[in-house]
Amino acid sequence: MARPLRADIDLDALCHNYRLARDLAPTSRSLAVLKADAYGHGLVPCARALEGLAPAFAVACLEEAEALREGGITAPIVLLEGIFSADELARVEALKLGTVVHSDWQVEALLSHRPAEPIPTWVKVDSGMHRLGFAPERAASVWARLSAAPAQACDLHLMSHFATADHADTAYFEHQMRTLNALAETLNAPTCLANSPATLARPESHGAWNRPGVMLYGSDPLEASNSASRELEPVMTLRSQLIAVRDLDEGEPVGYGGRWRAPRPSRIGVVACGYGDGYDRHAIDGTPALVAGRRTTLVGKVSMDMLTVDLTDIPEADIGSEVVLWGRAANGEVLSVDEVARHCDTISYTLLTGVLPRVPRRYH
Ligand code: PLP
Repeated sequence: MARPLRADIDLDALCHNYRLARDLAPTSRSLAVLKADAYGHGLVPCARALEGLAPAFAVACLEEAEALREGGITAPIVLLEGIFSADELARVEALKLGTVVHSDWQVEALLSHRPAEPIPTWVKVDSGMHRLGFAPERAASVWARLSAAPAQACDLHLMSHFATADHADTAYFEHQMRTLNALAETLNAPTCLANSPATLARPESHGAWNRPGVMLYGSDPLEASNSASRELEPVMTLRSQLIAVRDLDEGEPVGYGGRWRAPRPSRIGVVACGYGDGYDRHAIDGTPALVAGRRTTLVGKVSMDMLTVDLTDIPEADIGSEVVLWGRAANGEVLSVDEVARHCDTISYTLLTGVLPRVPRRYH
């Protein structure tokens, strides 16, 4: 039998989560954000599942868009980071992609390119993230130049990105929204602003387009503080099995460094999954896992190919029992990737994108 670790991808759940994003914003169109291999879920299979539902996809760069086109995806695609050199525009044109422009050199490259068909263009505005984009005053002049060049650029939109849409304190979020909306009003421009938390909980930020990402994969950036986010369904289940079981006396250590010691006579299970698979080595004792559909916790340090769990209160667990590191167990029990991420002092995004190619993806 093969090593039992795999990432099961529930494409129905992906579509369910997309429909939720769409239904929360009935007057917007929602770009499905598929960058970073669809947040680790597999770019082309996720795009194929969503094609027909999502009017367009967003990826980070040309290589990701090329992979989508090679996978037979014909829907519109937007490059969120735009081009990295002027010569990429020929491929952008050939593949019928849209692109963000966030820097002067990109605008110059676009304006001096002579495409047979104009390229859909998204002007990135720095409304407060201070990462990519033109300051609002500059964005207005970029907009004017692009609007005057219909042979190069078409379907012009303003795009910006929230820094704090998942925070309880909404002051900075509102500042960003006001900044973009004021500019959009002056230019009479369609906008694209809302990420997942804003799609879920801030209808006032919904524009002509929204850009939900992590929520499509069932991760809840709002930690269940919102009724809509409680309807999200996990898409990836990181599933393995117990490959060994052992009994320990009270005080005996487990794993590298012997940091964890059995506080009572204990039964320990060894799971085929480690940091060499992308499971976070920062997972501390107490990080939850589901064994045979029942909650338990990791004990000891995560190794490259294995980790260890406490089975003392799960007597029915034995070699071959199912272990879910996050996602949905066979009995329907769910362990959210967000909860695991909190125990690793990280966010779901890093756990999901961190699952390495060594772990086979299986699509349902
Ligand atoms: N838009 C941009 C520019 C992004 O960088 C991201 C994610 O990093 C998204 C949209 C989607 O954000 P989220 O995954 O939080 O919905």
